[in-house]
Amino acid sequence: MSIMNKIIASSLPILPKWFAKPFATPYVAGETFEEAKPHIRALNEKGFKTTVDILGEHVKNKEMARTITQHYCNLFYAIKEEQLDCNVSVKPTHIGLDISLAETMANVHRIIQSAKDTDNFLRLDMENSSFTDATLELYNHCINIHPKSGVVFQAYLYRSYNDVMDHTSPQFNARICKGIYKESENIAYQKDSDIVDNFIRIVHKILNDSGYCAIATHDLGLIDKLESWIEENNIQKHHFEFQVLYGVPMSGKLEELLSKGYTVRVYVPFGYAWFDYSIRRLKENPSIIGYVIKNLFKQK
Ligand SMILES: Cc1cc2nc3c(=O)[nH]c(=O)nc-3n(C[C@H](O)[C@H](O)[C@H](O)COP(=O)(O)OP(=O)(O)OC[C@H]3O[C@@H](n4cnc5c(N)ncnc54)[C@H](O)[C@@H]3O)c2cc1C
Repeated sequence: MSIMNKIIASSLPILPKWFAKPFATPYVAGETFEEAKPHIRALNEKGFKTTVDILGEHVKNKEMARTITQHYCNLFYAIKEEQLDCNVSVKPTHIGLDISLAETMANVHRIIQSAKDTDNFLRLDMENSSFTDATLELYNHCINIHPKSGVVFQAYLYRSYNDVMDHTSPQFNARICKGIYKESENIAYQKDSDIVDNFIRIVHKILNDSGYCAIATHDLGLIDKLESWIEENNIQKHHFEFQVLYGVPMSGKLEELLSKGYTVRVYVPFGYAWFDYSIRRLKENPSIIGYVIKNLFKQK
């Protein structure tokens, strides 16, 4: 089955979108917020917190970046009106970072004002290493306006530990992930074991310094290691949360974490740009294909 899954995963980009859509649905919550809402509510009802993201990146034109910025602002008001337990994650290149830092600064300023007006939280996702410095600048701007702001550090980058040290403070809220982009060995660890070691070192640093850490991984071994350390070191539950991407199978681990009273947040993407995102997810984990096929047959 696994070779077949890999063949299907690599063929999907050349197949028509109507064919690919059933394989995408486990990973995206729809094309619009209206479609995503029931998925978010269902997660909330099970005890999960959520963070929502409008799919898309590398916008090249100012008008489009401003329109997307307006969508993000509206999202904060819609979340409040619907009383969802949901914050917002934004990719800086979706709101103009491929155009200029000044353009993105103006856009992120509008978004963080909406987060402030609705007393919600904004997280800036971290993209490839050419955007790291600019994203940290955007984050520094946001945190000065509204303390409920956060950013992401990628454990594969050598620089991340020092970046974290530059930022720790009691209101510091960092998501730590392994990192998803292809980066050169000049700036990034390549071996999973080195990335995991750095991930652990960074999480320990933040939690020892009383910051807030969102542990974003599906790596069950890594979650277990961090959970043991957290218990041994009596780290208070309000200092961290676990985060996963919507639709990634976790073998019951999330329910186990919830039952222990830990916060678990699901990253829920939606939007018209579902195709590229889903293809990326399917390539990372072709075994999801088997699961989708089983569900397709069950529905019939
Ligand atoms: C909430 C959240 C937010 C993130 N934000 C960012 C960000 O801002 N910037 C960034 O560079 N990266 C981000 N990532 C992605 C992250 O950097 C990793 O690339 C991704 O999570 C895979 O690494 P892993 O830690 O899950 O471990 P892995 O060892 O890669 O995976 C562990 C297991 O989970 C499965 N798996 C992992 N990821 C997926 C997936 N997407 N789909 C299906 N199966 C999967 C694998 O098959 C494997 O069995 C985020 C991840 C999460 C969970």
